[in-house]
Amino acid sequence: MSQKDSLQKFIFTDCNVRGQLLRMNKSIGVILAQRDYPEILRKFLSELLAASAMLSASIKFDGKVTLQIQGDGPVSLMLAQCDNRQRLRGLAKWQDLPDSQQSLQELFGAADLLISIATNKKVSNYQAVVKLTGTSISDAIEEYFNTSEQLPTKIIFASPFMQHSEPGIQNDLVGIFLQVIPTETNYEKESWLSIINELEQGLERTDLQKENNLVVLHNIFPEHELRAFDEQPIAFYCQCSVERSKNTLKTMPKSEVDSLLAKHKIITVTCDFCNKKYEFDAEDLK
Ligand SMILES: [Zn+2]
Repeated sequence: MSQKDSLQKFIFTDCNVRGQLLRMNKSIGVILAQRDYPEILRKFLSELLAASAMLSASIKFDGKVTLQIQGDGPVSLMLAQCDNRQRLRGLAKWQDLPDSQQSLQELFGAADLLISIATNKKVSNYQAVVKLTGTSISDAIEEYFNTSEQLPTKIIFASPFMQHSEPGIQNDLVGIFLQVIPTETNYEKESWLSIINELEQGLERTDLQKENNLVVLHNIFPEHELRAFDEQPIAFYCQCSVERSKNTLKTMPKSEVDSLLAKHKIITVTCDFCNKKYEFDAEDLK
């Protein structure tokens, strides 16, 4: 059980690899409490949220990263959004989810993973779409980096929902992100593969929940020299506002808005991310 939701970047000083160690608990709790999510969606959504924080921390920018999975399965949408200050929000929409449907493919069907980066200056927005492949959220994100960005990347998640925790103690979601440093065009495949191997073996001899970040990193990579940067806090934050909600109504046909006003006198717009309600009457919408 952690101290605080945070992300800590590190680099290996003896090879061209960088990393992040992330811990989330409270921020995920707040987001998952917005809807009555089935257990399996709690796991996938929390991992997508963690991945959005990792992506946001892996680039230098002023804006937000959105990861979106859209498919033809019972889960029609899953979205996670994180800004450059590690403030995030997310949601999933689903219908009729039988207990037997547990795999990524069963839940999402034929689906795409959309990655978009919107900068606050709106000069260099970026979008990429990859087919949703693999069996986990980490597989899908790794595939994006490996194919679209040609950056060998490894992500592991220890999800609280799939582990036995002591009664009353909610485990953290712990994530580790490793990536070849993008400026290095020539990376040594052998040393990358050996680090992945060390990660997989090292995880077996360290307690991600109980040990602090530096101990975890030392336990996993005892042979390497690492430099860890300051921890960055991660928190839930929703950017919804009166103005944005009003703008949503303004994009609807006027006749539709008028008939809603005639019927109800007040139109309520509920934010999909945080359930906050915004009310408008005819005067507000003039
Ligand atoms: Zn909101």
